[in-house]
Amino acid sequence: MDGKTRIYADNASTTEIDSLAFEAMLPYLQDKYSNPSSLHSFGRAARKAVESARLEIAECIGATPQEIFFTSCGTESDNWAIKSMAKALSEKGKHLVASAIEHKAVLNCLSALEQDGFAETLVPVDSCGLVSKSNLSAAMISGTTLVSIMLANNEIGTVQDIPGLVEVARSRKVVFHTDAVQAIGHIPVNVAVLGVDLLSASAHKFNGPKGVGFLFKRNEVLLPSFMNGGYQEAGFRAGTENVAGIVGMACALKNHISSLAENINRLESMAFRFKSRISEKIPAAIFNGHPTQCLPGMVSVSLPGISGESLLHLLDLKGIYVSTGAACNSKDTVVSHVLRAINLSDALSTGTLRVSFSKDNNDEDAVTIADTIAGLYNKLA
Ligand code: PLP
Repeated sequence: MDGKTRIYADNASTTEIDSLAFEAMLPYLQDKYSNPSSLHSFGRAARKAVESARLEIAECIGATPQEIFFTSCGTESDNWAIKSMAKALSEKGKHLVASAIEHKAVLNCLSALEQDGFAETLVPVDSCGLVSKSNLSAAMISGTTLVSIMLANNEIGTVQDIPGLVEVARSRKVVFHTDAVQAIGHIPVNVAVLGVDLLSASAHKFNGPKGVGFLFKRNEVLLPSFMNGGYQEAGFRAGTENVAGIVGMACALKNHISSLAENINRLESMAFRFKSRISEKIPAAIFNGHPTQCLPGMVSVSLPGISGESLLHLLDLKGIYVSTGAACNSKDTVVSHVLRAINLSDALSTGTLRVSFSKDNNDEDAVTIADTIAGLYNKLA
């Protein structure tokens, strides 16, 4: 199967690298291979590239460059924010709050912290996947030190009212972290508008390279370092920087943001066409997530009476790539915790597919995928 006949609609798992980002990275993998910590002029050239990427990323999210710290991925950013913050504040309390639909990168941090005496409360969501201010407030107790609620969900696309939820945490002087891995580059993200203290991001979700991400840390937040070693990242995150990755990440994010409104319109049109076509051909189909507060171009659809995984493999044979849910869970056979949290029956959860379009898809792809799903569904069901 070559690139022309393939329809890739699994962009919430990962995206194709932006060609400008790819080109921007190449010199730092070849001629400009110096270590940004080296004092000579060759090293200083790499340092300049890292610092200009930091400035560009900061500008894209309304932060200052001193608030951006490069990491190896979204998972590392989440681990750093949650584990280090929880431990730093442990004298004040050992209770943490997150939503029931967080990514495993957050949920498994909370489980790991249990061994150090921490306890967590997972806030329930409504049937659209939204966390309410009152439920968040009810989950917080006097020993709560950290709230972590994702900006956009990776399985159903629901976008939370983070400014409203931050207000609740702020009124109790509790630190707020958001996992914005699925949101950055896809919807407007400004840390001042969100009001968060910590925010995680990952380049490969917005057409950047894999293996690089960043953590935003508000200047006033005292977050201890996570990786111990040299004095990289102002002493907060040791390890020689992935210069090419950082340069590629900044370029990809800038490109996404520069055509954000246009991309959103295109993606909304694809999602609309896909949903209309599916509804027309499979009237029993159910769409998950919030109808309006959602990521553009992400559709979670549940089809009664079939296995989503079987459908996925049949689509694969036709050169169409989608997902049954989160890519990181694809080896788990258990029902998705996200679909369970929105109260979908296990039978419907099993028949769920996630179709996530990118700016490189088009309306024709949306219709082709819907028609192919409908054709296969009618044979399977
Ligand atoms: N958080 C969310 C919401 C995600 O969707 C993902 C990846 O799918 C991650 C965190 C982990 O990011 P990474 O793959 O960069 O470690």
